[in-house]
This record gives sequence, C-alpha cells and structure tokens, in this order.
Amino acid sequence: MKERPTFPAKLATAQHPAGPGSAKARSLPAPLPPAQGLGMDSVAVRMRMVHLLQKQGVSDAAVLAAMGTVERHRFVDSALVNQAYEDTSLPIGLGQTISKPGVVARMLELLRNGATGTLGRVLEVGTGCGYQAAVLSLLAREVYSIERLRGLHDKARDNVRYARLANLHLLFGDGMQGFAAGAPYAGIIAAAGGEAVPQAWVDQLAVGGRLVAPIAAPAHGALHAKAAGQALVVLDKTAAGVRQTVLEAVHFVPLKSGVA
Ligand code: SAH
Repeated sequence: MKERPTFPAKLATAQHPAGPGSAKARSLPAPLPPAQGLGMDSVAVRMRMVHLLQKQGVSDAAVLAAMGTVERHRFVDSALVNQAYEDTSLPIGLGQTISKPGVVARMLELLRNGATGTLGRVLEVGTGCGYQAAVLSLLAREVYSIERLRGLHDKARDNVRYARLANLHLLFGDGMQGFAAGAPYAGIIAAAGGEAVPQAWVDQLAVGGRLVAPIAAPAHGALHAKAAGQALVVLDKTAAGVRQTVLEAVHFVPLKSGVA
C-alpha cells in the first residue's frame, strides 16, 4: 500500500501567514517513505531541484517555494519516478510531455512579474498531467486549467487529488477559446504553442494582466515557417493596449483546436 502523506494546501510564507493551530501552519509535507522507486527522501531531492533552479537564475521566492512543495514524482509514470526531479521534460502519455522544471519556473516567474502577494484568477491552457496547475494553485487565488485530451484531463484529476487544492479547477475543453466564465484573468499561461496568441486569450485577460505563452517564432524564410521553432512570448495588457515581448526559444507541444 502506498502511503499518502498530507499536503500543505497553501504555502506558509510571509505573504500567506497561516493562523496558529491552522492546518495550513505546516510548511513542509511529511517526508515520503522510500517507496515507489524514488528511493530517497523526496523533500531533499526537491530542495536540490530548487537549488538548481536558483542557479539557473530563478529568483522569485514564491515560485521557488511552490516548486519545492509540489511532489513532481506523483505526476509522472512510475517507471520515470527516478527522473522526476531532474531538469528534463518527460512523456505523460498521448504524445504529450510535462515541461522541464526550469521552464515551468521561468514561465511562472514571468507570470508573477515580481508580484508581492498571490495572483488573482489565472487560466492555464494545457493541463497535461496537472503538475504546473498544482504549482500555480499555490501562487494564485483561483486557477482554471483546461485540457483538450480527455485521457490527460482524467489523469490530472487523479494526480492532483492528493494535494486537495480547493482553488484548482480542472476543465475539459478547447483552451483556444479560453474559459470566458472565469474571465477576466490576472494571468494566462499556455503549455502548448500555436501560430499566434488566440484573440480569446487577449480578450479574457484583465487590464493589468499578463499572458505567458510559447508561439511560433517569426519565420526567417516564408517557405520554412514551420521549421522556425517557437519563442516564449509575454503580453502585457494595459489601458493603452497590448505590449508584446518576445523572449528565448522554447520547445512545446503544439496547441491544437477541438477536443479528443
Ligand atoms: N503543464 C502541463 C504540460 C502539458 S503539455 C504539465 O504540467 O503536465 C501541453 C498540453 O496542452 C497537452 O496535454 C495538450 O494536450 C494540451 N493542449 C494542446 N492544445 C490545447 C488546447 N487547445 N486546449 C487545451 N489543451 C491543449
């Protein structure tokens, strides 16, 4: 039988003080027994991952704390558990991948944009295995995460259950339409890359909100547009309009329309 240690549903940081005697006062998950092929204390391996992220230049303390809390090994297949805390993307089934921790941390840091407290409502497009959604739910008041593949949506539901995240809403549908019922969003983050940012996302972003997404990099030669790869893009919506910043090259699975 697998032990299911409890999970701190919220981080006990300076920004989110937990009341005395509250269940939230626990700041670290109970250590896992050396089971499930992990073979080591999972808090220690996560801390090592967090140090690696810091070395890569991630400095947002809230992002680092959240990455140190969510048990990434619960989101990958048992055969891959030993690689769960390496900075690598891993297959999650149906041809999709969980992004590497460095990319997740980088995107969440961009999304937070130096915010001092918790973000408001956030939309994630591409739930996948639910890992990034779980990390996000420690950084935002409400998280809506949408997935177009039923099999992964169901898997994510199972994966996040242990964490009992009341502010995380997993949705099955086509994220290219966004999720209007939750709008406007303080942040929108996409884990799949399309040719352009869908207009629905821009419309559903609050004024003052920020969107982080991979999109097809501008083609150098029109004939080779597909080979041009992707870049990380940040959109800031202000009263005066939308400002776009193109950042480094990235490699994400394609954003597709419809559900399957
Ligand atoms: N953040 C995820 C990464 C999953 S990979 C994780 O932590 O595991 C990206 C996911 O985006 C895939 O599961 C893919 O099915 C999904 N996706 C692609 N196009 C989509 C769309 N239009 N709407 C919702 N999800 C989409």
